[in-house]
Amino acid sequence: MPLDTYKFHDIIHRCFRCGYCKFPTNWMDVNNCPPYARFRMEPYSCGGRLWLTRAWLNEIIDWSNHLAEILYSCTTCRNCEIKCPLGFNVDIVNMVVAARGEMVEQGKLPPAVKKFLENIDLYGNPYGNARSKRGAWMEGAPIEQYDGQEYLYYVGCTGSYDTRAQNSSKTLGILLDKAGVSFGVLGSEENCDGNEVEKLGEAGLFEVLAEDNMARFNDLGVKKIITLSPHAYNAMKNLYPRLGGNFQVFHYTQILLELIKAGKLDLSKGFNAKTAYHDPCYLGRWNGQYETPRELLETVPSLKLIEMEKNRDGALCCGGGAGNFEIDLLGGSESSPARRRVREAAALGANVLAVACPKCLIMLEDAVKSEELEDTLAVKDIVEIVAGACCT
Ligand code: SF4
Ligand code: SF4
Repeated sequence: MPLDTYKFHDIIHRCFRCGYCKFPTNWMDVNNCPPYARFRMEPYSCGGRLWLTRAWLNEIIDWSNHLAEILYSCTTCRNCEIKCPLGFNVDIVNMVVAARGEMVEQGKLPPAVKKFLENIDLYGNPYGNARSKRGAWMEGAPIEQYDGQEYLYYVGCTGSYDTRAQNSSKTLGILLDKAGVSFGVLGSEENCDGNEVEKLGEAGLFEVLAEDNMARFNDLGVKKIITLSPHAYNAMKNLYPRLGGNFQVFHYTQILLELIKAGKLDLSKGFNAKTAYHDPCYLGRWNGQYETPRELLETVPSLKLIEMEKNRDGALCCGGGAGNFEIDLLGGSESSPARRRVREAAALGANVLAVACPKCLIMLEDAVKSEELEDTLAVKDIVEIVAGACCT
């Protein structure tokens, strides 16, 4: 058993299944643990998952694919860490990750998780797409290869390969160029950031990816990084320093806000829409960035920002975290967290649901289609909203 699992083995029994971890900040319902919201069964809640894990570690129950799927359905959104009143709350996700590490160690993974990790190992992305195609998204845009510019613009797997998210990647490159920012990208030289790999319990592969990225960044003299995705932001800001990484890391919303404040982008065209903002877990609960995206939206003329009841540290995760944007253990039902989330925005009368994460973008846009809300609600990345308001 890995060391971490031993450590958490000793505290996992402290969960007494009060169930507080399922609620949002305003206690409005019990649906803020995404897998519980999807399945409405106690084993899928945070406390239930901890008890099941404990039973498995104590050899009271045997491993099964269903048990593994329950463990991997946790999106690592951290709602439970905010809501659990007990002192061990800071280690809840660590316990889930350690138990997953034990499953990785034993080679007992749900097939979709295994495939996700194998693809990253072989191709540097979870989709199994060719490494040589990683830079195809920037075709026709004024974006250069990194060669000592002030910033490295790190795009990430979803922004590089997903056809919907590619629009965000390209739009951000165009805006940075327009504002005169000195930046470059790695194109086909870019590798997976490893955030999801770490959260899926594959610590060895995570280290390989992080070391590979850091060696490339250091060879090229990279000091400052702009990320499209909050997941990459989290990996490079919080995980790489543990392995010796020393980079200044920014999420793109921080950079765009500064550029607008400095008068480098003219938004006078405006964006006329009643807009709700969905907090991505890896920007919000993982990194405390609640206000910057809202401030950014508020700089856009004509945009009316409205708040969903579940907001900031009480936001409902889109269900895509910890690889679930691709592994998809939470989809296929009107109870799926992404569908719940778009219904919440629609009920508020929002015309636009703004996101700041390519994974939230694809999850919520798919949910809008499933809910047949395309005529009334559009999902847009904040970078697309800023670009729409920008005068040429
Ligand atoms: S994790 Fe915390 S909040 Fe959730 S059931 Fe256990 S003790 Fe209660
Ligand atoms: S991190 Fe999120 S998905 Fe995982 S148990 Fe906690 S609330 Fe549920």
